Amino acid sequence: MLLAINSSNQYCFANLANREESYRCPACKESVVLRHGQQNVAHFAHQVQASCHSFTEGETIDHLLGKMALYRSFAKDYQVVVEPVLGQISQRPDLLVKRPQGPDLAIEYQCSPIGRKRLQERNQGLKSLGLEVLWVLGPAYYQRRLSGELICRFLYCGRLFFYVPKQKRFDTRFNFSKTDFHKLHYQNQIGFPAILSSLANGAEDDHDKPLGMRSASQPVLYQTKLVNPTSNLAQHLLYQRTKLTLLMVQGRVNIDMINYLYERGQRLDQIPDWCLLGQVFGLAVPNWYFRLVLVLLLEKVGLNHWIFEKSLSARLRQYFYPSFQEPEKIVKATYTDLAVSGVICLQDNKILVIKLLQFVAD
Ligand SMILES: [Zn+2]
Repeated sequence: MLLAINSSNQYCFANLANREESYRCPACKESVVLRHGQQNVAHFAHQVQASCHSFTEGETIDHLLGKMALYRSFAKDYQVVVEPVLGQISQRPDLLVKRPQGPDLAIEYQCSPIGRKRLQERNQGLKSLGLEVLWVLGPAYYQRRLSGELICRFLYCGRLFFYVPKQKRFDTRFNFSKTDFHKLHYQNQIGFPAILSSLANGAEDDHDKPLGMRSASQPVLYQTKLVNPTSNLAQHLLYQRTKLTLLMVQGRVNIDMINYLYERGQRLDQIPDWCLLGQVFGLAVPNWYFRLVLVLLLEKVGLNHWIFEKSLSARLRQYFYPSFQEPEKIVKATYTDLAVSGVICLQDNKILVIKLLQFVAD
């Protein structure tokens, strides 16, 4: 930890601490020792590790450096508490940023892997105190190719935040989109403290529009231009169908879906074009699968029949990652896309089916 209490009951930063003085842990009040070598960052450590429950011991140098860097960049503009003692929940986030408007922001700099359950508990604890939580990821995450599921866990305002101590590098990733059979696509921006500052200020993420950025919560749906610029529409469709055929041949598609279509005299590689044009991030299934399910559900509703938007949306929720926070936005945008294509008509929270999308013939 970076902070401890000295004998006059004052908080003291490790880099300003003095070896003659004795220090205590702000949480458990047990004595801590100052560690300050050539190799490591000045920090305090418990003498008896097991005695403190509210603080993770064994912080790596990266973790200490990151915490310090984050502290410095926020402390320029905001009141920041380092390693706040939150007695009620036995948790100590790395930083607590006091915002002029809105709830305070707890910041966790995460370098090591953390399981989903543990992450949930930490989030819930902090949220129970009315805090918002921002996770900033360390070098191990920065270098890895992150799965969609993992990204969803750490998204804040549609963005991922990183700090790499060796390069003193702040980064954010945003505008995530996923075309089936293509790699995850996103934009990367170096230097996030400016964005964080606006977030810390309680301002909306989309305020930085001059940079031409869109929050990732705004899904990228297919309209006229594909994210992958090398392909035009016809090429794209052909590519997607070929890939689907390959999946079928390799037996890598949900057999229930194959059978369901087979009963109707249809094949998977004949699904309507519209199914192949999704590019949204947040789905736990491919875009084509999600869209096909929606097409089949609308078919069940039947031509010139109505369905409540809510009841249709409830059936689509299961296809998103559980930790994805904005499935409603994606579902809504998909409806809009269908409405623009003349397939449905939206009215008073109800959906009217006005056209059935056709499977393609051989
Ligand atoms: Zn302690």
